[in-house]
Amino acid sequence: MRFHLLTIFPGIFDSYLGESLFKRAQKARLISTHVYNLRDFTSDKHHKVDDRPFGGGPGMVMKVEPVYKAVARIKKTRPKARVILFSTRGRKLDAIAAKRLSKYSDLILICGRYEGVDERVAQRVADEEISIGDYVLSGGELPALVLMEAVSRQLPGFLGKEESLEEVNGSFPTYTRPEVFVAGKAKGKARKWSVPPVLLSGDHKKIEEWRRRR
Ligand code: SAH
Repeated sequence: MRFHLLTIFPGIFDSYLGESLFKRAQKARLISTHVYNLRDFTSDKHHKVDDRPFGGGPGMVMKVEPVYKAVARIKKTRPKARVILFSTRGRKLDAIAAKRLSKYSDLILICGRYEGVDERVAQRVADEEISIGDYVLSGGELPALVLMEAVSRQLPGFLGKEESLEEVNGSFPTYTRPEVFVAGKAKGKARKWSVPPVLLSGDHKKIEEWRRRR
């Protein structure tokens, strides 16, 4: 899976993608990440990626041209790439969408900033618009990382042995040692936090049952 990230803040991705599962997946060539600075796709001498909104109003809007050019450049070699625009008006990302997107060989992820992206990108450049939740962030970079992680977890080999691919519905509370954690004394009273006894019982049928109920 190749992820192509279109952004005006290319440095944002370095630390997160350089650690843990993403680091290992890139080394193993299971995924690759390609970050494009939209400023490199401008044609004016000031490398302007934004401009004032037609009709007035506060803030700035990301221009269509740099996005269009960057997508066109990528599509020259990766014509089947799926183009995703992050938008508060998009379809909400969920496990089903992550699974569906994991089938593409290339995802182009357009990260908006400012008041958003010129609507012609949504209408004519992107294949779909995705939101990660009903709140407004300052840019599409965090949504891109969220989507990449949700999608990558669906790829065979991305998760280590110590992590399991659980469906959202199959998720249950977990505990590890110690059996009893003694929290700091609050006004003379020791606070003992124990693990549910059923998990220590060794009775796997009962444990399964308990987990299902959660
Ligand atoms: N005024 C705009 C918000 C722009 S936020 C509006 O009401 O839609 C700037 C950019 O951040 C957006 O273009 C989008 O790419 C990204 N963004 C912000 N919140 C997001 C969310 N919940 N999901 C996906 N992308 C988001």
